Amino acid sequence: MEVFTSQISILEMSYILASVLFVLGLKKLSHPATARNGNLWAAGGMVLAIVFTILFHKKDGAHIGNIPWILAALLIGTVIGWMAAKKVKMTAMPQMVSLFNGMGGACAALISLMEFPHIPEALIVRHGMLNGETFTILMGLMIGSVSFSGSMIAFGKLDDKIGDVKTKLMRYFNLAFLVLLVAMVVYIMLMQGKPDMIWIYLFTALALIYGITFVLPIGGADMPVVISLLNSFTGVAAAFGGFLYNNQAMLTGGILVGSSGTILTILMCKAMNRSLLNVIIGAFGGSAVGAADDGDKTVKEISLSDAAVLLSYSQKVLIVPGYGLAVAQAQHLCHELDDLLTSKGVEVKYGIHPVAGRMPGHMNVLLAEADVPYEKLTEMEDANNEMNNTDVVIVVGANDVVNPAAEDDPASPIYGMPVIKAWEAKNVIVMKRSMAKGYAAIENNLFYHVKNRMLFGDAKSSMQKLIAEIKNL
Ligand code: NDP
Repeated sequence: MEVFTSQISILEMSYILASVLFVLGLKKLSHPATARNGNLWAAGGMVLAIVFTILFHKKDGAHIGNIPWILAALLIGTVIGWMAAKKVKMTAMPQMVSLFNGMGGACAALISLMEFPHIPEALIVRHGMLNGETFTILMGLMIGSVSFSGSMIAFGKLDDKIGDVKTKLMRYFNLAFLVLLVAMVVYIMLMQGKPDMIWIYLFTALALIYGITFVLPIGGADMPVVISLLNSFTGVAAAFGGFLYNNQAMLTGGILVGSSGTILTILMCKAMNRSLLNVIIGAFGGSAVGAADDGDKTVKEISLSDAAVLLSYSQKVLIVPGYGLAVAQAQHLCHELDDLLTSKGVEVKYGIHPVAGRMPGHMNVLLAEADVPYEKLTEMEDANNEMNNTDVVIVVGANDVVNPAAEDDPASPIYGMPVIKAWEAKNVIVMKRSMAKGYAAIENNLFYHVKNRMLFGDAKSSMQKLIAEIKNL
């Protein structure tokens, strides 16, 4: 039986405390007003777990060695992470999240790679490779590697450095890779003795390739599902690390990331009307066809003064923000417009599409930053239910999330995805700089709709001018 020394009990207590801080931090992350604190609490839990592990962890009676190396790695990682987070533009945040997520996956995979040679001989003599430790290591290695390479591809796609690879063949490749990976796990676990490391390197290489081929074909409006799935993969891989080391803080942290990521994936799948199986074999999205241009469509523009009058004399206005709001950094002006109209007796709400922007919750974060009251944000479904009674929908830098092709063009890659039905309102004003396409790279017939008028220009400067115009009325 393991000796329960006072140092072990301090360490275990610190892990429990760290886990509690993770849970409380996560709870606080669920509301914009408490999210910043939540982040600090969870980070505090992580610092506590790291410091106490360095101070109190013992193996075979000896404290952790290589302290200077550990401290140097901590210092370098902290400085790079801190600087990257400080310097990153709000619009590049999704790429950074993908990058950091990939690093988590890589860490989990490296832990497995390092620990494989240390599977105790006594265990192998008794059970062969068919034991919990081997399984934990292989799972951590597979899921961590997929998460790492997949996140790197997602990073490249979000940064517009990598395009979609759209061929039906990829679906079969992916299925074959997945079957091969599972077969290798079974094969290695059925071996009598410890296999040569070459098997493990081969397994890692296959998992890395699968991560690439699984994310490559996914494109268009389907990236959010993949991003949250990769996020949950990293959590699950870290949880396997926690099992391996019997480390409760790592286990809880991994399970929390894994389970919240899975819940988010399911929500995203629902929001996009896709099945999870299709995501896992990388079989959907990516096609940038759809909404053929019939040639005789006309675009109507609205002048600032007409827009100001229309909005001021409305009863109900819905603002639909999208990625362009983040690019223009127009969230504060959006709030100013909202206040101005509200002071004139107009009821103003925000219609939030779950995948608007480039990361889950992107619009909520932006609007919270501009102190828009949370109660003013309406979910897509509620916004759609109210659409018939809405006088004006102002679409601020959104495109795919208001595209009617999702409803009426079966050939469109976004067909079936629920969207905000702006065209059902009495009037629509779309604020964007040009007729350019959105992330899914498809035409948007809303721009040609009889009820719609375009207010061309950068959302921030258009919003500034619109506010001035309304004030002058
Ligand atoms: P879109 O990418 O569809 O469209 C954004 C629009 O904003 C563009 O058409 C662009 O038009 C306009 N825009 C850009 N800059 C400005 C500016 N300065 N001022 C005014 N307008 C501007 O965004 P949506 O939010 O509608 O949809 C999000 C898309 O991203 C979906 O396809 C979603 O699946 C995908 N995605 C979402 C992720 C998530 O987690 N939320 C992650 C990855 C992808 P113009 O150039 O003419 O101004």
